Amino acid sequence: MDIPRIFNVSESAHRIHDPFTPEKLATLGAALRLEPETRVLDLGSGSGELLCTWARDHGIRGTGVDLSQLFTEQARRRAAELGVADRVEFVHGDAAGYVASEKAGVAACVGATWIGGGVAGTIALLARSLRAGGILLVGEPYWLKLPPSEEVAQGCHAASISDFLLLRDLLASFGKLRWDVVEMVLADPDSWDRYEAARWLTMRRWLEANPDDDFAKEVRAELTAAPERYATFTREYLGWGVFALMAR
Ligand code: SAH
Repeated sequence: MDIPRIFNVSESAHRIHDPFTPEKLATLGAALRLEPETRVLDLGSGSGELLCTWARDHGIRGTGVDLSQLFTEQARRRAAELGVADRVEFVHGDAAGYVASEKAGVAACVGATWIGGGVAGTIALLARSLRAGGILLVGEPYWLKLPPSEEVAQGCHAASISDFLLLRDLLASFGKLRWDVVEMVLADPDSWDRYEAARWLTMRRWLEANPDDDFAKEVRAELTAAPERYATFTREYLGWGVFALMAR
C-alpha cells in the first residue's frame, strides 16, 4: 500500500510537499492563534512538517495519516529531530474515511483533497473529526486565470478545467457549504518554485545514484520535460492556498 513511485522519488528530499515555504507554513500556524495542547488531525500529512513545527512552536498535539511509507518514516524522524515525538504521531495508511477517535480542534487536509473525493467530500470527512467551534484547514489549488483550453489545464496536471475554480469562486464555494472562511495563506510564484524546482535536483541526483534502475527512464523523461512544462502551465495558471474554515 503506497503512492505512485514517482512522488516517493521526486519528493524524497521535500519537507513540505506543497507550494509553501517554511515561512508560509509558520505564518499559517501563527495566523490560527493555536492554543497549547490543541489537537490537530492532518490527513495526507506527508513528511509531517506542519504537525512537527506547530508542535514545536505552539505546543499542539497531533496525528497525521499518510499513504506513503517513506514520507511517514521521514515524519517520525522529523518529530524526533525537533524533540516533539511525544506530541505527534504518524500513522501509515489510507486516510479515506479516517475519523479520529478523539475530536480535534483543527482538522486539516493540505494538498490531498482527493482523499475525500474532492473539496466538499474532504470537508465532510474532516468535519466528522472536528470538535464544535474547531477549525478546518483545506489546502487546494485554484486558477489564477482560467485556462484557455483543456490542454492548458492538463499541462497543470489537472484532468480538466472544471477540476479547479478561480479564487473568488473557491472562496464562495465554502460559503455555499455553510462554512465561513476565517483565514487564508496563499502560495506565490517564489514559493511554488521551491516546491517544483526542488524536485528537479532530487530527480537528477536520483538518476546519478540509480542509473540501472527500471524506473530511471520514467524519471529521466520527467526531469527533461518538467521545467519547461512548469513555466508554461503551472507557474502561469495555477494558484494554491490553505483556507481556514469554521462552521456557520
Ligand atoms: N500535507 C502534506 C503532503 C501533501 S502531498 C504537505 O503539505 O506537505 C499529498 C500527500 O497525500 C502525500 O504525502 C501522499 O503520500 C498522501 N496521500 C495520497 N493519497 C493518500 C491517501 N489515500 N491517504 C493518505 N495519504 C495519501
